[in-house]
Amino acid sequence: MIILGPPGAGKGTQCERLVETFGLVQLSTGEMLRAEVKSGSELGQTAKEIMDAGELVPDDLIISMISSQIDQQSEAKGVILDGFPRTTAQAEALDVMLSEKSLSMDHVVQLEVDEDAIVERLSGRFSCANCGAGYHDTFSPPAEEGKCDKCGHTEFSRRSDDNPETVRSRLVAYREQTAPILPFYQDKGVLQSVDGMGGMEEVFDQIKEIVAGG
Ligand code: AMP
Repeated sequence: MIILGPPGAGKGTQCERLVETFGLVQLSTGEMLRAEVKSGSELGQTAKEIMDAGELVPDDLIISMISSQIDQQSEAKGVILDGFPRTTAQAEALDVMLSEKSLSMDHVVQLEVDEDAIVERLSGRFSCANCGAGYHDTFSPPAEEGKCDKCGHTEFSRRSDDNPETVRSRLVAYREQTAPILPFYQDKGVLQSVDGMGGMEEVFDQIKEIVAGG
């Protein structure tokens, strides 16, 4: 399945829940790129500047990265694509990729959120530096301050692109390059929209219904 929505819509959070509940594997192109940046690879060095500017990494790099990751998931029950596709070219390449790999797409879920809420959501978010569990200063802090609920680690990190200036550029990239893929999936009759403005559980209930529905 694919989960679509602007930055800050809650894609990562909902993916975490889908992984826990349905045993799916999450493939997040943003996470893969951040790992490349951290490792200092050639791809990471190219991607860092683009990501810090809030722009999109070139399609060919992303497409080959996700294709090889999908190939490594042959044992998985199912895969959730988080942050991919982000352009019409990527959506078209995914179609070709899936048919070449004899895979199907069961659900395309769009998280609809109010843009004003996005900056607030993004500016408060952080994650565990060890296991990656996501938190928010206001909406979902750890139960015990300074300690990860999942693994007990006490170090956290914030993304360098979650600052107001970069967030604005990321929203422009979403509006101009990613939102145009919604009609692509609508025309195929697979797009299902979910109100992403509710609480984490409410949003997850809506997604769960879609996934459980077949
Ligand atoms: P995300 O974690 O999904 O918000 O992605 C963080 C950044 O990584 C984005 O702002 C882009 O610069 C880059 N990125 C992630 N996924 C893609 C993609 N599918 N196509 C192009 N750039 C991407």
